[in-house]
Amino acid sequence: MPTVYNWQIRRELDYPYEHERPKKQFAMVMDLNKCIACQTCTIACKTTWTPGRGQEYMLWNNVETKPYGFYPLGWDVKLLDLLGDSQKWVDATYEGPTLFDVAPEGDTLGKWMPDEYDWAFPNVGEDEVSEPVDVGTVMETLPHLAWMFYLPRICNHCTYPACVAACPRKAIYKRPEDGIVLIDPERCEGYQECVAACPYKKSIFNAVARISQKCIGCFPKVEAGYQPQCVTTCIGRIRLQGFISPPDQVRPDNPIDFLVHVKKVALPLYPQTGLEPNVYYIPPIHVPRSFLRQMFGPGVDHALRTYERMRRGEEPELQGLLHLFGSTERISHSFRVVDGEVIGFDEHGREIVRVPLVEPYQERPHEDPALEVVRQDIP
Ligand code: SF4
Ligand code: SF4
Repeated sequence: MPTVYNWQIRRELDYPYEHERPKKQFAMVMDLNKCIACQTCTIACKTTWTPGRGQEYMLWNNVETKPYGFYPLGWDVKLLDLLGDSQKWVDATYEGPTLFDVAPEGDTLGKWMPDEYDWAFPNVGEDEVSEPVDVGTVMETLPHLAWMFYLPRICNHCTYPACVAACPRKAIYKRPEDGIVLIDPERCEGYQECVAACPYKKSIFNAVARISQKCIGCFPKVEAGYQPQCVTTCIGRIRLQGFISPPDQVRPDNPIDFLVHVKKVALPLYPQTGLEPNVYYIPPIHVPRSFLRQMFGPGVDHALRTYERMRRGEEPELQGLLHLFGSTERISHSFRVVDGEVIGFDEHGREIVRVPLVEPYQERPHEDPALEVVRQDIP
């Protein structure tokens, strides 16, 4: 079996196919400190791509409340169970088993298949906090005594996709031009091996069409230079889509590279799967570190320290870049923060967006003799 290198866990692993990195790799960063679980992304995706028969329960984008929400039921608990008790990081190197290491005899990787019931409760655990608190409790310290946060999820368009590795029909492929992972509906026979194999459970069976279907990274928009629907409709402006470079080709002016490789403030979800997922999360500051480390790996402490510095105004470039989130429908291939503005550029270096870091505001008096009015909305 060919050997590939996974930079997120800093080690080699066996993958069933020879691997060449795509020309560009689709990637997304989500700031979990800003998601409000409005589900606008979920509905934008649903109305765009999955309104058909057999897709009623299908949410290519979903938003779940941690720690008690999951869609399908228990996907992350099952994933951690599969990897077992010997998950172990030594500094930034993962020395425990990946999904490829826990494959049963004769199979490619460790899997589990959700049943129909597991897909029935997309909002289970919504807004439930980790433990009860007395009425009137004020939480002033970090992490909070009781906590919850929202986790939006799409397909990670993994570098070493489990769905591709598992498909006996070779119906799933990773596009060389942008790294988006797609299922060919003509080749798929509905064996559902990808559904069992994807640890994030982002390949889903359509019982009417009798084939598996999954997030397509809004590839028609991406091809035209626009970010996906879940990004451009996001009310909290928590998302940025672009392309990530491998660590030896980092461009510090590429927004995704800056967040993931330079500042290391955005981290992959369960990197210990070994799949090198390409959706990255800025962890929430109020959640206990042990929970976050299990979920995002050992980079959590550094990421949160950097985010805290940014909140204190000590990371102006990072602070500037966060203003680019939700500011344009176009994909920013590079950015610059200058003179109180952040500027985004397309892949030809043309300016596509310019955002002030401080919005101008005007304070209006309660009593305004010029207009002979009293403004009731001002205390
Ligand atoms: S998240 Fe799952 S469906 Fe998406 S590419 Fe990775 S393995 Fe495949
Ligand atoms: S639209 Fe944005 S803020 Fe709303 S749930 Fe989705 S990711 Fe969170």
